[in-house]
Amino acid sequence: MVGVPASEVLTGWAVESPGPIQDGPLVRVRRAVASPGPGELLLRVEACGVCRTDLHLAEGDLRPHRASTVPGHEIVGRVAAVGESVTGFRVGDRAGGAWLRSTCGHCRYCRAGRENLCPASLYTGWDSDGGFADVALVPADYAYRLPEDQDAVLLAPLLCAGIIGYRALRRSALPPGGRLGVYGFGASAHLAAQVALAEGARVHVLTRSARARELAAGLGASSVGGAYDRPPEPLDSAILFAPVGDLVPVALEALDRSGTLAVAGIHLTDIPVLDYRRHLFEERNLRSVTSNTRQDGRDFLDTAARIGMRVTASPYPLGRADQALSDLAADRVNGAAVLVPGPRSRPRPWADRYLSGTAAGRTGIRTGRGEFDERPAWRRPLIQRQPPGRLRRTAGRCAGVSHEEPDGSRRVHARAEGNGHDHRTEITHADATRIPGNETLEDTARCMSGQSDHH
Ligand SMILES: [Zn+2]
Ligand SMILES: [Zn+2]
Repeated sequence: MVGVPASEVLTGWAVESPGPIQDGPLVRVRRAVASPGPGELLLRVEACGVCRTDLHLAEGDLRPHRASTVPGHEIVGRVAAVGESVTGFRVGDRAGGAWLRSTCGHCRYCRAGRENLCPASLYTGWDSDGGFADVALVPADYAYRLPEDQDAVLLAPLLCAGIIGYRALRRSALPPGGRLGVYGFGASAHLAAQVALAEGARVHVLTRSARARELAAGLGASSVGGAYDRPPEPLDSAILFAPVGDLVPVALEALDRSGTLAVAGIHLTDIPVLDYRRHLFEERNLRSVTSNTRQDGRDFLDTAARIGMRVTASPYPLGRADQALSDLAADRVNGAAVLVPGPRSRPRPWADRYLSGTAAGRTGIRTGRGEFDERPAWRRPLIQRQPPGRLRRTAGRCAGVSHEEPDGSRRVHARAEGNGHDHRTEITHADATRIPGNETLEDTARCMSGQSDHH
């Protein structure tokens, strides 16, 4: 073993007794971490995405495989130590730990390149401790190499939301230039939709969340509507991301002849009785998606880099993992929630958007001076603002984060709190206020927070 820390202590969260999220099934833990065994990497966690599966594990929709397990399977970390016989990673490398943790390698599925169906497969954060912690052990053979030059918060959602969404897209058998329906639009859907769009599909997004509809429209969806609405044209393919069985017949009915519906989630509420003629006849197909292969992961990560995947993430300090799960349960997360360890990280519960691999090839925000601020969001100065007509200043304060769209316009995410109110709003493109080019972010922040009174 190389790069051995003498004794490593893990600080994080574990699922003690699964139950409703408001009952606090996640508890803080501190425990010793074993040195990496043969083939293992010890990662110092830079960021860990929060997946709906973590919520299912915390709430007991998925039965625990072992007691007091640390959830989290979208782990971006730096290799702090490597076990014996590890090849492909060295201390200091960036590595990604994902949901699929190991497979047997010799069953009929593994031999046929379908390791996602291996009956002996194990999963990160279910069969072993995951990434809701500052350190994590992952098997090197199932870890992904990740780009060194991207923000860890951007990369984390790719590791499950992205990979599973990609497999779901492939399972939906979308033909080239086809018509795709996307039901539910969270972390996974917003990434899969971009792959489909990049491949020339017309994408129709159906979701109950107004903010998610806005995100979908901004990414180029041809139409957006409510979860139970009928898309404006028959679909070749549909993916059900929402864990809602009631939507299965709704999505099947929206399919054209021989269309395919793929159910992306690991858990689904009961599916109502189907009517053969309305929902399945005319050779419509209903498919599930089970985990992923490592090849899916590599294909997706390559695709994400190639198309300049744009990731919408809401960073939370690791210490607020319980809040992140509550927000996910209540549909309050825009895009993907991502936990960031670090003693000094502060709560940043509003959505922040990053651009990845776009024409600029960089992530960050344009500052008032026209400079590009590439610091991660939590290291940037806050812009506090009071957008006219949308957020009323109360006894509390308004705060927002702005960034530049690819077309050069500004987009602002804002949040108001005070007087018992705590609402967030995402100001639409048209409403976004252009911040004068001669003002710095700090000046703007001062003026918007009322320290200057010319507003
Ligand atoms: Zn997941
Ligand atoms: Zn196997």
